[in-house]
Amino acid sequence: NKVLVKIENLKMHFPVYKGALFRKEVNRVKAVDGLTFDIYEGETLGLVGESGCGKSTTGRAVIQLYEPTDGAVVFEGCDLTKLPPKELHRLRRDLQMIFQDPYASLNPRMTVGDIIAEPMKVHKLASGKDIQREVQELMDIVGLDPRFVRRYPHEFSGGQRQRIGIARALASKPKFIVADEPISALDVSIQAQIMNLMDELQDEFGLTYLFIAHDLAAVRHISDRIAVMYLGNMAELCDGEELYENPLHPYTEALISAVPIPDPEVEETRERIVLQGDVPSPLNPPSGCVFHTRCPYAFDRCKKEKPVFQEAEDGHFVACHLIDEPERRENVDPTKSS
Ligand code: SF4
Ligand code: MG
Repeated sequence: NKVLVKIENLKMHFPVYKGALFRKEVNRVKAVDGLTFDIYEGETLGLVGESGCGKSTTGRAVIQLYEPTDGAVVFEGCDLTKLPPKELHRLRRDLQMIFQDPYASLNPRMTVGDIIAEPMKVHKLASGKDIQREVQELMDIVGLDPRFVRRYPHEFSGGQRQRIGIARALASKPKFIVADEPISALDVSIQAQIMNLMDELQDEFGLTYLFIAHDLAAVRHISDRIAVMYLGNMAELCDGEELYENPLHPYTEALISAVPIPDPEVEETRERIVLQGDVPSPLNPPSGCVFHTRCPYAFDRCKKEKPVFQEAEDGHFVACHLIDEPERRENVDPTKSS
């Protein structure tokens, strides 16, 4: 598999200031605190975690909507974080985003036609009649009636608006799309349609997706691989099936225990693991392993030493000290911890 995007030690810290006149940095929100992973060409990588874990920030930092605090994002051999603005602008056409709330992300004063045409104009990909033709073609591709080209976003339903957002993302003929919870604001009945559309477009245009969602169930069917984040850190990353069958990180194990088994024929044997406490603040993340305050298996070392995110099994990456000390698993029943 060819790597399309290589992310190395990506950090996104937001400074917290005090004082109006002499602003002094007093703290930092460590929204994303050192991620290293690859995204393969043509895959859908699902990125999952609770709200506030840094997944949206990661998505935006990867396509340089945010300037990362540290780290590298290598896209087709170029480190995007080091590119001069002009060259970054040129590459932007390859890197697009689909937003959670299509309504908030569409300019209400622009017609659908103008919204979809904008990336073509910005990147000088077409002009005049060609733009009109391509806009209508794109509308058709995403399942919108091209006769509605002069209508405004408010004249469409939520699902149709997300189709407009998708058409706009496709307009610059990108290679890589970050989809930030593209279906969570939509009615359940519409969600599957949008997922199917994204899947078809991926095949047709050879797209690579980073698909962000807040729960595992939402990414299960669309993802080739799944990455799980917790408090600004990567907990686990592997093939989707593998993640469900063999979760290695205690946080993933807990998440999966909460996913309902869809087949009624299968007898429910999985016991739910209920994590204690709340997610700590990224202003003051716990020492060592950031999950240690809630982990049923936590032991001394976890408080002192941050586990390295490493390949524990073939293609299966995890950040947990249990990889070195697997026998510690045997003595703990995570469903009975308190
Ligand atoms: Fe739990 Fe320790 Fe593994 Fe962190 S390193 S997930 S605290 S066992
Ligand atoms: Mg696919």
